[in-house]
Amino acid sequence: MKDTIIALATPSGESALGLIRLSGPDAGAYAKKLLKLNSGKNIENRLVNVGKIFYPENCLIDEVCAVFNKAPFSYTGEDTVEITCHGNPLIINEIINAFLAYGVRIARPGEFTERAFLNGKLDLTSAEAVNDIIKARTRYSMAAALNQLQGKLCKEVDKIHSKIIDLLAELEASIDHSDLDEKFIESGEIKSILMDLIQEADRLLQTAPAGKMAGNGVQAVIIGAPNTGKSSLMNLLLREERVIVSEIPGTTRDVIHETLNILGIPVNIYDTAGIHDSGDFLEKKGMEKTVDLLKKSDIRIVVLDSSRPIKKEDKKIVRDVSDLSNIFVLNKTDLEGVTYLKDIKKIFGIDAIPISAATGKGLEILEKAFYDFYFSFGYNPEKDTLIANARQENLLCKTRDCLSRGLQSLENGLSIEFLASDVQAARKNLEEITGKTSDEFLLEKIFSKFCIGK
Ligand code: GDP
Repeated sequence: MKDTIIALATPSGESALGLIRLSGPDAGAYAKKLLKLNSGKNIENRLVNVGKIFYPENCLIDEVCAVFNKAPFSYTGEDTVEITCHGNPLIINEIINAFLAYGVRIARPGEFTERAFLNGKLDLTSAEAVNDIIKARTRYSMAAALNQLQGKLCKEVDKIHSKIIDLLAELEASIDHSDLDEKFIESGEIKSILMDLIQEADRLLQTAPAGKMAGNGVQAVIIGAPNTGKSSLMNLLLREERVIVSEIPGTTRDVIHETLNILGIPVNIYDTAGIHDSGDFLEKKGMEKTVDLLKKSDIRIVVLDSSRPIKKEDKKIVRDVSDLSNIFVLNKTDLEGVTYLKDIKKIFGIDAIPISAATGKGLEILEKAFYDFYFSFGYNPEKDTLIANARQENLLCKTRDCLSRGLQSLENGLSIEFLASDVQAARKNLEEITGKTSDEFLLEKIFSKFCIGK
């Protein structure tokens, strides 16, 4: 028999109200013991029950409202009681302790949602979306998470899954009756089904960069030669003095990281140590991190200085990133110019955005460039179904690879058993995405990232 669990669902600390959740087979029975309703009746299913909680006996803790939902018609699919009390941490603790004294246990992080998943209330992608919704800080992160919570990704995955199941049935029938002359499915037809499935998996995989950026943020690195104004630009984007600005080259010793909301898009922005030859150990360490970040980031903001001629260092940086996605900015345009946009175009063949980190000129155009970069992937989290994280992407990649292997073995004229085993493997990978098959380790990994009470 499962434990009945309890947790505070609202933030701890003083607040107008506190919401305490109970879930498990005895949630209603425990509530009956502690809660005396004003009506004198027993706690009723699907009603707001108003009453007082006493513990120990005759000792009033608080006046509360409690909503009782009997299984399976609740978030977790179990009997649940949600108690709304006054938002005083002392009251909340006393209520929780009273339930603990009766044998209820404190919930683990994400345990309510884990139970909802295990009871078939949510698939795994929707369960992941619950956490994403809580953590989303921008319009498009929220939209992506909400879409996923509606089960849109699950539906897409299930569409591929049911085609795989149909194909497997055909393949297995062919294997079972391989002694007969009659052919159950022609290899031409299998080939076209496989190609179709691979195409569908690829189409979904293409949404992964946009989906992951909506969730984790666009990883953006500010790079440029020392003193071009990288830290000043970071401050401007943050609209605060977070990064120390100095006239001495090389003052940004380490990588500084902040998350911004740029026109609804989450952007993780990194200010970096200047890329130049340095004897300073700390600065060298910083530069190693810069090189690492340069490779891993989604976009680079390359800062050039309009108040001096283009130097060797600038050329090296532009050359190093030439194969990647970048936004080029020409900074310090408030000063008398030495290098102009037309010079940048002539030397590098690129268009830069003129800005002044000192006055804020050009900031809006720069922010719009982030927005355009995000939408250049061709997806809109408010409308499209997107792969949301690396777990889903890896499993879908594996599914696609198994299908490709199957196609290969068919083309190589191998026996149908080989193909069937590849298609089975594809099915398993796909099932892990939505949680049709899952193990304890995976669930622990996913739900431990949740907050307690969710
Ligand atoms: P970093 O080494 O690239 O991070 O450059 P900093 O942000 O530390 O700036 C170097 C120097 O340039 C500082 O003295 C800044 O005040 C100055 N600076 C940065 N951006 C601008 C700008 O847009 N206009 C002017 N006039 N000075 C700037």
